[in-house]
Formats: sequence, C-alpha cells, structure tokens
Amino acid sequence: MTKSSERCRLMIVDDDESLGGTLLHILQKAGYETRWVETGKEALAQMTAGGAEPFADILLVDIRLPDMNGLDVVRESRKANPDIGAIVMTGYTDNETAVRALNEGAFAYLQKPYNIDEVKATVARLVERQVLLRQNKALVRQLQEANVELERKVAERTQALQSANLDLASTIEKLKEAADAKTAFVSMVSHELRTPLTVIEGFTETLIDKIERLQKEDIVRYLGIIHTDTLRLTRLIQNMLDLSAVQAKGITIHPAPVRLKALAESITQGLEMIKTGMRFEVVFPNEIEIISDKDCVQQILVNLLSNAVKYSPSPGTIRIKGTDQGSTVQVSVIDHGPGIRDTEQAKIFQAFYRSSDAVNRKTPGTGLGLTITRAIVEALGGSIGVESKLGEGAIFTFTLPKVFELSKNNGLDTGKIENSSLL
Ligand code: ADP
Repeated sequence: MTKSSERCRLMIVDDDESLGGTLLHILQKAGYETRWVETGKEALAQMTAGGAEPFADILLVDIRLPDMNGLDVVRESRKANPDIGAIVMTGYTDNETAVRALNEGAFAYLQKPYNIDEVKATVARLVERQVLLRQNKALVRQLQEANVELERKVAERTQALQSANLDLASTIEKLKEAADAKTAFVSMVSHELRTPLTVIEGFTETLIDKIERLQKEDIVRYLGIIHTDTLRLTRLIQNMLDLSAVQAKGITIHPAPVRLKALAESITQGLEMIKTGMRFEVVFPNEIEIISDKDCVQQILVNLLSNAVKYSPSPGTIRIKGTDQGSTVQVSVIDHGPGIRDTEQAKIFQAFYRSSDAVNRKTPGTGLGLTITRAIVEALGGSIGVESKLGEGAIFTFTLPKVFELSKNNGLDTGKIENSSLL
C-alpha cells in the first residue's frame, strides 16, 4: 500500500450482507481504511459525525438502498465533503441509471455481481485521483497563501516607496526653495548695493566735473546725499556681514545667566539719547533670569527696539513687557508707530523685505534686521512673531526657553549653532 492511498478512507453503503461484507474484507485486505454501513441514513450520519473532518473520501454506494436512493446519498455526502469520490454499484444493467450516476458526478459505475479485480482497480484509480485532487488543493492553497504574503509585501514596499518618494519630493522642494531664495538673495544684494553706489557715483562725477561752476549750497546738498548713501552702504554691508556670519559660520552660543529686565533697561537708556521725546517703559513683574547667550539676547532687543524707535513718531512711548511662562519667557516690544499691514507681516522677516510704508516714509533701513533677529531667536531655541493693525502700532513678541538647551537646537555639543534657513 502506498503512502498516499493510506490517506483515503472508504465507506461501503450496501444492504446486501454478503456483498457488503465481501467488499469490506477485500478492501481492508488491500490496506484501505474502510467502513461498511447498510443504509443511506447511516452513511450520512457517519459522514457528518466527524464534524469538520468527514469520515469518508470515497463512497462505494449501492443505488438501491432500503431507505433511499444511492445517488441521493452521494449528493448529500457532498455537503459534508464536496470532494468526495463516488463509485456507484447496482444490480441492474440499466444504461440510464449509469448515465445518471455519472452525470451526478460519480467516478465510475460498477455492475453486480462484482468482478473483484475490476473493483480493486477502480478503487485504486479513484484513490489516486483523490490523492491528486488533495495535493492540487494543497498546492493552490499554498499558492494563495504565498500570493497573499506577496501582496502584503508588495503593499508594504509600495507604501515605503511612496513615503520615501514623498520625503524625496519634499527634500527636492526644499532644495529648490533654498536655491530660489539664494538666487533672489544674490540679485537683491546686487540691487541694494548698486542703488546707493549709482547715486554716489553720479554725484561725485558731477562734483568732479562741475565743482567750479556749482553754488556752495548745491555742493553741500550733493555731499549730504553722498554721505547719506555712504551711511546706507555701510549699514547694508554691516547687516550683510552679520547675516552671512549667522548663515555661514552659525551662531556661537555661550550660555550664561542673563537678567532680562536689567538688560532691557540698560539698552533703553542708550536709545533714549538717540531720539529725543522717546520714552521707554520696561514692564516686568520682577527680574527674570534665564540661561542663554547675553550678546544674542542683547542683539534681539536692540534690533526690535531700534525699529520701534525708528518707525514711531516722537514724542512717544515704547513698552517692553516681559512675562514669565514657566519653562519659557516672553518679551514683547510694543510701539505706537505706523503698524504693518496684515499682508506684509510674514514678509518682513524675509531678507531685504521693507514695507512700502517704510520705503514711502523714507525711513532708512536695509530690510535685513528682522531676518537676522529671527535667526538669532531660533538659534536660541525660541520663536518670534508680530501682531499689528495698520496705523495702530506694532507688537513684536519673542519667546525664549528659560534654559538654553543645545541638543534641542542642533544636537552639537560645541556651543555652535548652525543656521541655514534664514532667508
Ligand atoms: P529695516 O528696518 O532695516 O527696513 P527690518 O528687517 O528691521 O529692516 O524690518 C523690515 C521691515 O519691517 C521694515 O522695513 C518695516 O517696513 C517693517 N517694520 C519693522 N519694524 C517695524 C515697526 N516697529 N513698525 C512698523 N514697521 C516695522
């Protein structure tokens, strides 16, 4: 007996005791696990008794049973085991019955009285077919499982690829933005430098060519213009140097205790000298000491306060308000100057951006101060923003951590902060 045939179980359904018994004997002797029942009902009961595991893989069923038709037994058995193989047996030499049996899906049709060799050969062929069928099913199942696993892996990889693509697209987008910003920056720099230079060049040429013919007051006026534009150039170059230092070398942070209220008061004393009629109010609930870089905090305050002084009419009051917020501190510089349009509030932090109002008022400036200020605030681990209504002044507010943490900014431990997104 082959290993595969052992896996098939047979059930004989025949009410003829001598034929059923003989068949049982022959098949058991041939090595098949075989049962014999006499009625259709018993056959069906045994088929379903095993629950999910039906007893038989092969039925040898007599067409004429005492309680039901053999073909009905086959049909009903298929409900428990759809792959069941059936050999139908009858004593009638009736072609019609044979055709019906085969149409119902019987594997073979045997006539009584049995020819033992024919029975054994037919059973052997059916066993072989059943085993093949089972193997095929197992293969299909394996294939389906492999397919499911493959689909899962493909979906997983596709998702990973999609997210990598998104990351790549966003990196490309950022690089493109950075490249565009650099191009815009270079063209703005050349424009900003060329404008005062053209003025200086024009007026110096006029002075050289016509100095003897010019009135003294014209000469003084021309020199005044040259002086103003020289100052503008100096300011611009200084700002650009600051910006490029921040960008290229990063900002070196030396964390130390900084007393904010005292620092604000000392800066305002210096500024009061610059513009007469300007009053400063430093409003802190009490002294707030933070661990940060004093020079950097000073530069932030100087930049914001200089702007407030520059853009506000005199006499006027500028307030510096400090609030302790637990792990952070918030400082606002509040002025009653011209304010900034909603549409321009985000733009003023971009390099060289100057509001049309500032330009129209001919207030000198480079449009770089706030860019530098924001870079420094961010290097200290903070953030900055502006609130304003046109004509009603501006409130510039920055927030800093009470204790500067190097790792939060760039993970370096050298005290040097790299800054690459200033524009
Ligand atoms: P600058 O003052 O040299 O032009 P900034 O970068 O410091 O450059 O400021 C950018 C622009 O923001 C200014 O040109 C001005 O239009 C606007 N701005 C800044 N501070 C104030 C302020 N306190 N009130 C009104 N406008 C301001």
